[in-house]
Amino acid sequence: MVTHMKEARRMPGAEWLKNHPRWLERAYLFSKRIIMKAYPVMKRIHPRFANWLMVRSEEVLKGWVFNCQMCGQCILHSTGMTCPMNCPKNLRNGPCGGVRPNGHCEVIPEMPCVWVQAWERSRTMLIFADDIKVIQPPVNRTLQNESAWVTMIEGRDVQTPKGWGWDA
Ligand code: SF4
Repeated sequence: MVTHMKEARRMPGAEWLKNHPRWLERAYLFSKRIIMKAYPVMKRIHPRFANWLMVRSEEVLKGWVFNCQMCGQCILHSTGMTCPMNCPKNLRNGPCGGVRPNGHCEVIPEMPCVWVQAWERSRTMLIFADDIKVIQPPVNRTLQNESAWVTMIEGRDVQTPKGWGWDA
């Protein structure tokens, strides 16, 4: 299987943060409130700069904390604040059947299974703990490298291409 995942980054403090997702839940809600207000204003003033800023800030900040792969349709709050795109199979609805007895990945044996971590972390969340049970659509590759904040504000993160037969 060919995977296109960026090499796993283990940035200082990132694992601690992900293991304490209650902080990240609050940070997510706070950021969402700010960005929902600020982005439309920035877009009116300078659309290209606004979009560039959103993409770059996601690449840097979410890259640091979550090893974000810029899928453009973020579901972190539904996955225990663990990026599902770090799963080599890019699964969005739980683990494959190949999880090892020690909870590690079938494809990359030295890596803990993303979905084992997602489930365990989600159990400690206060606000979004049960969102992990929501069935997610397949990854829409047409959104790759876009800002997930922007696609969320524009409602494109929950739209799927015609023919998929998926109702968001
Ligand atoms: S935008 Fe996609 S790749 Fe980035 S953290 Fe969210 S789910 Fe993961």
